[in-house]
Amino acid sequence: MLARPGLPCFDYVRATSPEDASTLLLENGFAARLLMGGTDLFPRMRDGLLRPHLVVDVKGVPGLRDIGYDTHDGLLIGAAVSLNVVACHPDVQEHYPLLVEAANSVASYQVRNRATLGGNLCNASPAADMAPAALCLDAQVELYGAAGYRRVPVVDFFLGPGRTALEPGELLVAIRFPAPRAGSHGRYIKLGRNRAGDLAIVGVAVYGYPDAANRDSGYRFRIALASVAPVPMRSPAAEEAAAQSPLAGDWLQATADAAAESASPIDDVRASAVYRREMVRTLVLRGLRYVSAKLSRPEGGWGVGRGQEGA
Ligand SMILES: Cc1cc2nc3c(=O)[nH]c(=O)nc-3n(C[C@H](O)[C@H](O)[C@H](O)COP(=O)(O)OP(=O)(O)OC[C@H]3O[C@@H](n4cnc5c(N)ncnc54)[C@H](O)[C@@H]3O)c2cc1C
Repeated sequence: MLARPGLPCFDYVRATSPEDASTLLLENGFAARLLMGGTDLFPRMRDGLLRPHLVVDVKGVPGLRDIGYDTHDGLLIGAAVSLNVVACHPDVQEHYPLLVEAANSVASYQVRNRATLGGNLCNASPAADMAPAALCLDAQVELYGAAGYRRVPVVDFFLGPGRTALEPGELLVAIRFPAPRAGSHGRYIKLGRNRAGDLAIVGVAVYGYPDAANRDSGYRFRIALASVAPVPMRSPAAEEAAAQSPLAGDWLQATADAAAESASPIDDVRASAVYRREMVRTLVLRGLRYVSAKLSRPEGGWGVGRGQEGA
């Protein structure tokens, strides 16, 4: 007889403050897990991969569902803001279209109503779709624990599959994005097995902006990859290749080749390592073409599309 699917028993508590959540985590150790949208946590509990005795819901903690923007400090998104709210927020749409594109690439509309930006980062999947955009935009995560608040660059947050820089008793409270670079453009391209919300086989974010200090091309690029290494990653080699080359000739191919070389993909149920590496090359090339065309035609508007490639 098939086992009846369902969640194991657990106690549920709503935290009222970051202090409250942190204390519950410290008192209960591995027996406690934090909950926001639950779209990663509950499937893992259902499948027996996690067995917390206590689930601490932090969605209602004051500030965790806030979004704020100002031209100097940039964008602050509470950890429990859902991806649909991120994608529909007017300030995000105007100033961080790369985030909108990444958010719209996650799962389905229904899942995005619950799935949060903070949960996507804390789950620390190598395939997390919000991670490449956060890496390109130089995001910082704001954490709270027994020692108070601290900020960690998102590039230092991912330590391995499912592992982050969160210390025992710490929770993510917000994600900070600096003010966008003047004249910047970005693109997130996700390759999944279908267009209906599969995890990424490869995810590529490309972000470029004018930089007078770069005498070679006058531009800088940031390039980040998902699902092709143990953690979502920036590709310094590709960024270097893009910065050194003038915006002509083989610089596009050289950059895409460097990105492909910097990846360390594996074979899994979704794709082979060889295919993944080739798709990094292809999608970085595609992203660079899009962003460089926008940079060389600054009057052009941003096209907010899903940027998702079905196989
Ligand atoms: C059908 C389906 C399709 C999906 N498709 C995609 C996809 O295409 N792309 C993609 O990237 N993801 C996908 N996901 C995964 C998931 O939806 C996202 O990662 C989502 O953003 C997680 O957010 P959440 O709020 O649901 O996190 P939760 O499940 O609530 O939490 C995720 C993890 O973070 C911990 N946590 C929660 N809150 C905090 C906090 N404040 N501080 C520290 N740790 C915390 C939890 O204990 C848990 O380990 C999919 C999931 C499903 C079920």
